[in-house]
Amino acid sequence: MNDYLVYQEIGKRIKKERKKKGITQEQLANLTSYSLSFIANIESNTYQSFSMQTLYNIANALDVSVHDLIPDKKEIELEYYELYCDNCDYFVSIPKELGKLSKYIEDMTNTLHFTCPNCDKKRMQIKK
Ligand SMILES: [Zn+2]
Repeated sequence: MNDYLVYQEIGKRIKKERKKKGITQEQLANLTSYSLSFIANIESNTYQSFSMQTLYNIANALDVSVHDLIPDKKEIELEYYELYCDNCDYFVSIPKELGKLSKYIEDMTNTLHFTCPNCDKKRMQIKK
């Protein structure tokens, strides 16, 4: 599992909670004293890491528990599929929707191999 997925999932949850509260990214930025671009990066798929203190501050501003914002491993695995290279062990996680589509094509054609960005061999397959 790629580390950035944890941050991506937290970002998704922050966005969901913010929308539930009916506040804008600007308002959340003001409430937490972080910049708008920082908040926007956290919520987007751009990789943006942040500290536990930051997460705590955002959870407080949204009036939710930090526990609600942090996914466990199982929850992340439900959201992503893994593309795995059986030649060099390189792997990358892809969103579930894309994984399902690839799996569907794989079932139809019986072979669906992607070129590995690490070893350049066409040996990557969906793991699930
Ligand atoms: Zn490879």
